[in-house]
Order: sequence, then structure tokens, then C-alpha cells
Amino acid sequence: MEIRASDVLSLIYPRRCPICDDVVGPVEIRGGRIRISGPAHRKCMKKVQLVRGATCFKCGKPLADDSTEEYCEDCKHTHHYFTRGFSVFKYRSISGSIYRFKYLGRQEYALFYALATRHLLGKKLFSLGIDAVVPVPMYPAKERKRGYNQARVFAEKVCKELGLSFYPDLIRRVRDTRPMKELDAHERRINLKKAFIISENDVKFKCILIIDDIYTTGSTIDEIAHEFLMAGAERVYCLTLAIGQTT
Ligand SMILES: [Zn+2]
Ligand SMILES: [Zn+2]
Repeated sequence: MEIRASDVLSLIYPRRCPICDDVVGPVEIRGGRIRISGPAHRKCMKKVQLVRGATCFKCGKPLADDSTEEYCEDCKHTHHYFTRGFSVFKYRSISGSIYRFKYLGRQEYALFYALATRHLLGKKLFSLGIDAVVPVPMYPAKERKRGYNQARVFAEKVCKELGLSFYPDLIRRVRDTRPMKELDAHERRINLKKAFIISENDVKFKCILIIDDIYTTGSTIDEIAHEFLMAGAERVYCLTLAIGQTT
């Protein structure tokens, strides 16, 4: 059995399970054999739900199992600038984990999230011909206060796992916007007007993937997609870690 530096480090700084937040030991016993542990407890992995089955052709939200619709209720009535959205987890099954990832400094969870992304969507994302991956930026003062931008941390790991090109500074957030959860759909759009600026005058990328943590109404992603389309991009996809279900 090969011992890697990361295995030794995990003895000193134990990794935490992204689902239950308890320590994951460096090895576990499976089928009577000692194996190197994965990024999460095996029993915990059964609790999270990946986005599978019928999904909205536009935003990627799970549709009811017996649905014959192509689009969710939201996308039937809203014009989205992005080409197509994809998500990894059903929000309710991973919400506690994302909260700790976002607010409690558990950046280490990003590895598990990226591995799940590769498992579920690797082939699909690879087939899109993505030139550049861009995380949704945070307002700089806010990022300094939190210490990191969770969308950027997730995006960087996804790029590493999938071999995609990471451009975290291609677009900047130049206005501090109000928390979106306080606003309705119309207010969200106004709130985001002129909030983002592309760092280069001429974007040479034709196909861009925007990455964020949670998909709600898609208004932030739309605003960024709109900027990139005006700057010359042809297709702008989005990937989020989690998405709610259609009610
Ligand atoms: Zn666990
Ligand atoms: Zn939709």
C-alpha cells in the first residue's frame, strides 16, 4: 500500500466528512480489508441525493418523476440568458454541508463536491467544449471579511478534477448587492444591474461555464451570462453545487 503525503497529513489534521462533519479516519475497513478512506463516510454518502432523472431543459432543476414537461414552471415564464444549467445535488439533502462550506470555513469539502461533480456530470461537461470556467465573484470587501469565496473554491477544484481552464478574475463584482434572499424576482434583477464588469474588453472565449454554490432564481447567473454574451461569448452554461426541487 502506497503512503501519500496527504495520508500522513490527514493523521495530523483529520479530514472531516462533508455530510456529517465528523472526522474521517485515514483508513476504513470494507469487506474485511483495510482501504484508504474516501472524502466522506460511506454511510453518509447514502444520505445525499444527486440530481438524476427528469430535469428542466433550461435550468436543470429536477422535475417530478411523472412529469412530461420539458421546462420547470419558472423557466416557462422567465427568459434566461444562460444556455443551460446543471446541478450536482438536490439542495435539501446537502444544505447543512453547504452552510458549513460557506460560512464555517470548511473549504476542504470542495474536494468531495468536485469528485461528485465529475462522477455525475464529467462526461456531459466535457462534451460542451468549455473554453473558460468562471466562478461567480464576491464583492471584494465581503470576500476579505469571509476569507474566501466558496464559489471560487468549488470551481477551482472542479477545474482540477476535469482538466478545465480556470479564470477566476475574468469578471469582477463592482457593487455590493443586497442579500438576494430578501428580494423578489423583480427586485433581484434591479439589485444586480451593473454589479459585474468583465476585466477584458474583448472576450476571446466562445463557451463559458459559470460556477456558483446554489441555484435559486438564476438571476445572478443571468446577469453574468448577459455580460459575457454582449462581450462576444456564444454559449454560457452554468454549474451549481445544489438546486431546489420544483414545488
Ligand atoms: Zn459522515
Ligand atoms: Zn427551469
